[in-house]
Amino acid sequence: MAYFRLFYLFFPGFLVLILLSLGAAPDARATDEGPRLPEPVEEPEQGHRGYGTRLWESRGRLRNSSMLAPREAFARAAAVLEHFGVPREPEPQDSLDDLQGSQTASRLATRARSLDLGGKFASYSSVTPELLEIFQDADSREVPDFLARLAPEGAVPFDKDFHLRIRRASLSNAPEQPLAGLRIALDPGHMGGAPWDERSGKFVRDRKGNRLSEGLLVLQLARLLEQEFTARGAEVLITHRSLAPVSPIPYESFDLRPMALEELRESVPRDWFRRLLSAAPAGAALFDAFSSSPEFRALFSESRRWRYFFQRADLEARAATIRDFAPDLTLVLHLDAAPPAGDPTGVNPRGYNRTKAYVAGGFFADELATRAQRRDFARHLLDEHAWNASVSLSGTIVGQIRSQLGIPLETSGMGNSLPVRPGVFARNLNVQRRITGSATSYLECLYYNDPAEFSALRRYTRTLEIDGVAHGYSERLVQLATAVRDGVLEFVRGYSN
Ligand SMILES: [Zn+2]
Repeated sequence: MAYFRLFYLFFPGFLVLILLSLGAAPDARATDEGPRLPEPVEEPEQGHRGYGTRLWESRGRLRNSSMLAPREAFARAAAVLEHFGVPREPEPQDSLDDLQGSQTASRLATRARSLDLGGKFASYSSVTPELLEIFQDADSREVPDFLARLAPEGAVPFDKDFHLRIRRASLSNAPEQPLAGLRIALDPGHMGGAPWDERSGKFVRDRKGNRLSEGLLVLQLARLLEQEFTARGAEVLITHRSLAPVSPIPYESFDLRPMALEELRESVPRDWFRRLLSAAPAGAALFDAFSSSPEFRALFSESRRWRYFFQRADLEARAATIRDFAPDLTLVLHLDAAPPAGDPTGVNPRGYNRTKAYVAGGFFADELATRAQRRDFARHLLDEHAWNASVSLSGTIVGQIRSQLGIPLETSGMGNSLPVRPGVFARNLNVQRRITGSATSYLECLYYNDPAEFSALRRYTRTLEIDGVAHGYSERLVQLATAVRDGVLEFVRGYSN
């Protein structure tokens, strides 16, 4: 930290003189039809090479529900958070240590196009050829958050450990042990069976009452992959080997309040929060405006229990398990569904089956409000090896699923996402956002409520014991595991990042 403070003192002029390109870049916002598919390893475009004038510029001004100046809005928001007992966030600076000096300013600008869907990061940051500086207050940029030292232009991003291990595996492993020396984390999505399927809605049933549980299918898939990867020399972690949640907290009785306060912190850039900030200066009248608003009260209501448990407690527990394992490759395993109208868990009579994968990115404008969110964004921005490796890994896996199972690549990433290459999209998904320093792929392998897929996946020919019960599974699931395995092997064999 001291280093950066010194640096900051000696080079204040750079901070204002030289701004870098971001703003001119993207209309890469389109997600739905006819997306542009940029190359995965991006080179700076001509127009961004030089340091022009208004270059590092926010595209994503939030709709201005309050007419407050940025500085006043920040001060009022801080007072509200403090008043309601939102704990201070830890200093993020130390968690950037391994990425200091890893990236050049011009490559940052290029890479930001896949990460910064809302175009908002620039309003929290400034960049010079030497330094990326992040602030806690959007637009006014007066309250420091953290700093990243940049590499000189022309420098090659330095080699990360996981990158060297994959390269070594690619170059020198014996053909029958192609994954030796690699650590692979598998995160089967959701929970499965009773009562979790009903709580999460992550199951499909046909008119006769036949069912498939996404949580069970992807756990079986993870177990099959574990056998395949272990047999080829990898060390494998599965985030959960039971159908139960990963988080140990009790679903029915955990205290909502700490998570509600986290949710309040993340709500600062949302319309309702910004509108309320206009009610009064920091003080009793402002706090009353919040505590009596329906949006504020909803954060603390029982109706949030499900969401806080699944989207906060359980996903954070998974991410922490993966981080502790320090994997070289991480696969987050899911199946998708396109529910027919009015029947959220029904088989889709029209039939729809596609495969796709996500990499980190696609941060929306209101997803940079907290220090943790900005730290995660910056880590993905600086860790070019991991992002490029994630794109290639995702590409080889969906390619194998397409060719081996005959499932077309999806052309839209849904939600707030950006196309990266055919079948691969950048999207800010919860577990993946928190994992850096490895190649990660968040797979939506296929649509399990497609009628043909549903029947094939239900044609059980084998069993696997989970939680002491022998659960049936199909040749189709074995076929899927084989395709995912081959995608991983293709990625490692051809690794050239
Ligand atoms: Zn899922």
